[in-house]
Amino acid sequence: AGDEPEGKPSRFHALMMFTKVDKSLNLLHKFQVAMRSVAKHGRFLEEEVLVLHYVSDAGSRELGEKMLPELLLDATFRYEVVFHDVGTLTEKLFPIVEAMQKHFSAGSGAYYSDAIFFLSVAMHRIMPKELKRIVQLDLDLKFRGNIRDLFQEFNHFPAEAVIGIAREMQPVYRHTFWQYRKENPKSRVGDPPPDGLPGFNSGVMLLNLDAMRHSTLYNQLLEPERVARLAEKYHFRGHLGDQDFFTMIGMEYRELFYPLSCGWNRQLCTWWREHGYGDVFQLYYRCDEPVHIYHGNCNTPIPDD
Ligand code: UDP
Ligand code: MN
Repeated sequence: AGDEPEGKPSRFHALMMFTKVDKSLNLLHKFQVAMRSVAKHGRFLEEEVLVLHYVSDAGSRELGEKMLPELLLDATFRYEVVFHDVGTLTEKLFPIVEAMQKHFSAGSGAYYSDAIFFLSVAMHRIMPKELKRIVQLDLDLKFRGNIRDLFQEFNHFPAEAVIGIAREMQPVYRHTFWQYRKENPKSRVGDPPPDGLPGFNSGVMLLNLDAMRHSTLYNQLLEPERVARLAEKYHFRGHLGDQDFFTMIGMEYRELFYPLSCGWNRQLCTWWREHGYGDVFQLYYRCDEPVHIYHGNCNTPIPDD
């Protein structure tokens, strides 16, 4: 009990992918920055609990269990930690997402192990029904504000929306939709904000699992034929997993997505500025909103303030 969207939630669920952390000092450092910043700025009411879910392999889990108490030492709120085995989740996920993997994964084949990159897409099918809402977060984040405020964004979802997500802040989808844009020169697909449709970034996602379960449209869009038809229409071929899927269906069905402010996922990567898109880069990159979360994507250092 306590997770009902109607009542006041007392348990706030956040999930992170947490694999190979024991094999990469780089990832380990990101994990430390992310968790220390959550602890430092997090404020909750007395009866509330932040439930931290980690999708891990055995080695990462062991490391996480050892480090979390110290990383969260400054927390003024109650928290619980849950580890999910990446192998068990992959087994449940693969049959649901196998068909879409070829459209949104690197390389030609649909590798079994890549299914986990689509966890957010089908999380509503594999997590227990009691779990009504969850926030999925990257590890390369640094909070500047209260993570509890992020959960409040669920309350602004319009009726049709199932996922809250911020826009992509590089012209990557201007690139991906190149052929569609050439054939449809008046289309806003891939154009910069505020009037264009630059696509989504999956570093911070609000998944209303209840709404995902109940949306006929959303579940139809998981069917292989529907995905194939849209991929053909948009000439879509990507390698970024869930964020490609959400970006593509978002072009057709905007109403499924509640747009988070850029300040909730202020991406810092500038790779595309140096790779053919310097002229338009700033139109995508600028974010005039207050920054609540920095996202140091493509290994970009996060400012110290
Ligand atoms: N991740 C992981 N193990 C890995 C690589 C990635 O657990 O070996 C997770 C981690 O949560 C990370 C997320 O996958 O934040 C997405 O990867 P990353 O943030 O590096 O991608 P980017 O945001 O740079 O595109
Ligand atoms: Mn990231």
